[in-house]
Amino acid sequence: MHSDLLHALARKDVLQLGAYNAGLSDEAVRKTWQVDTISRLASNENPLGASPRVQQALQQSNPRSAIYPDAASSELRDALAVATGVAADCIAIGNGSEELLKLLCLAFINSGDRVVTLLPSFGLHQLYPQLMGAQVDLVAVDEQMEYDLPAWEQALSRPAKMVIISNPSNPVGCMLGQAGFQRLIDAAPADALLVIDEAYFEYCARLADYPDSLSVLRQQSRPWIVLRTFSKAYGLAGLRVGYGLASDPALVDLLNRVRTPFNINRAAQAAARVALDDQQHVRDSVAYVVAQRDWLAAELQLLVLQIAPSQANFLFFRIAGDGAELARKLLAFGIIVKPWLEPGYRDWIRVSIGSAADNQRFIAALRQVL
Ligand SMILES: *Cc1c(COP(=O)(O)O)cnc(C)c1O
Repeated sequence: MHSDLLHALARKDVLQLGAYNAGLSDEAVRKTWQVDTISRLASNENPLGASPRVQQALQQSNPRSAIYPDAASSELRDALAVATGVAADCIAIGNGSEELLKLLCLAFINSGDRVVTLLPSFGLHQLYPQLMGAQVDLVAVDEQMEYDLPAWEQALSRPAKMVIISNPSNPVGCMLGQAGFQRLIDAAPADALLVIDEAYFEYCARLADYPDSLSVLRQQSRPWIVLRTFSKAYGLAGLRVGYGLASDPALVDLLNRVRTPFNINRAAQAAARVALDDQQHVRDSVAYVVAQRDWLAAELQLLVLQIAPSQANFLFFRIAGDGAELARKLLAFGIIVKPWLEPGYRDWIRVSIGSAADNQRFIAALRQVL
């Protein structure tokens, strides 16, 4: 009823913004499709869940629900400083690393600034810059679904305010190795802010060729931030905690100016703190997912046209036909996957690596609908 007035009042960057594809909830799928068993394979969650220590920490934090949390997340930052070797005053904590992406854009992007990121890309790597009026340039992966380094070097030969990459990438799963990472960093404009999103860091940390981004970036005389999260290998997606390891305290200070003061709730701080201590759970989760990924890739190979190389906890694959249509058919089996909606990738689907049972259900259903 008031939509004309509302649209006249709203910022034009907001009106032009596309919607983030957050996927479907279990409840919605259960209700619409009348299915009992749901396999959640669209959000890259940990099939083993969080460390058992997290339940205990959550119960202990309950009695203090009336008290505001620590606005600085000090204990968590101190623990992350020990774990990463980055000074606590260079660490920012976000309500998910998604929030850190937003804060970076709020703090740094002026209307008209150029931001360079990957195609296909994690939606928020485009949406948050666009929210601030940025011009976002996308560098597509090559035919093998790997980083196209010559294209990156060309894109980075022009001025940019911010460069955002995910390594390994989401949704593709491809990984920049040491040499490629160094090449990309060397090609970036000297005055650009480098945002390296390592949401899937834990799945790659064991690989010999995975770049030690912190030591490479420390050689640089320009600002940078490495983003990691408790949502994926740590299994805390529901609690919303991510962190950024930054080049200097001034960068963290700028993010603090634009964030809501108590951005990490008490339960989330406590849970992340104990989850960090349980590295055995992270190792077990990664080993489980990698074994399941190998199984799933071998099965998928027989059914689809192409599977992108993945070093993360998902597989990105191409079918003959429309991905959204196939994903809809899978919903009738209670299986939620993520069809890719970016132009040029509408025949691609991303499936998260779930439990052995979920992965088997997915393959059986896919066999039926294809
Ligand atoms: C999942 C994901 C995130 C979001 O992580 P949260 O910490 O849950 O906000 C950020 N970046 C990439 C590339 C992701 O895949």
